[in-house]
Amino acid sequence: MVTLLHASVASMSTPADTRPGAGAWVPVGAGIEALRAAAAQCEGCELHRAATQTVFSAGPVSARLALVGEQPGDAEDRAGAPFVGPAGQLLDRALADAGIERDATYVTNAVKHFRFTATPQRRLHQTPDLAHLSACRPWLTAELAVVDPEVVVCLGATAARALLGADFRVTRQRGMLFARPARSDDPGLVRAGWLMATVHPSAVLRADDRDAAYEALVADLRTARNAL
Ligand code: SF4
Repeated sequence: MVTLLHASVASMSTPADTRPGAGAWVPVGAGIEALRAAAAQCEGCELHRAATQTVFSAGPVSARLALVGEQPGDAEDRAGAPFVGPAGQLLDRALADAGIERDATYVTNAVKHFRFTATPQRRLHQTPDLAHLSACRPWLTAELAVVDPEVVVCLGATAARALLGADFRVTRQRGMLFARPARSDDPGLVRAGWLMATVHPSAVLRADDRDAAYEALVADLRTARNAL
């Protein structure tokens, strides 16, 4: 059964930080391709320095469902496209099993550059902090304003933090549909619709019981599909 809860969409507070944020790079009124091109030049926080490139989004602007992940991983950073690594492949399978067409879905991340710690062997993922989420938020706001999806699904705690607030707990509140009121103060989420969060597909890959974790992800995605 779908649980319907009302929640106000969280607004990101601006932390005390010297990063300028992406706002100065975001062209006003731009479409997705212009946003993508502008984001490639973004220096709104320090993450652009070590990453290979900006990883913007994939999927059509006509999408009714948008998926928001955390940040690009190692494979995505090299490819310049979101969700193309192992987690992306698992997500593709989960979407198909949930009856969702990946090619009709808009896929993006809350943070557009890969944050990592370099070791001699590999680049280790580092979770973006609140300052990175806040700095990168103008891109997410702008792209969601263009796509204007009916349902937005946050993949993982970081994306949920960006869109549902710091108090949101994926472990307790995953799979719940939150009414997203039409807002005048956040142009990225203009239209009334639904917000939901589930785990990031990389968490399924790390789970002790991977089959159970996968089925739970598919069940959450089915809930999102049924809300369309
Ligand atoms: S992470 Fe976001 S704000 Fe920071 S440089 Fe990249 S695009 Fe700009």
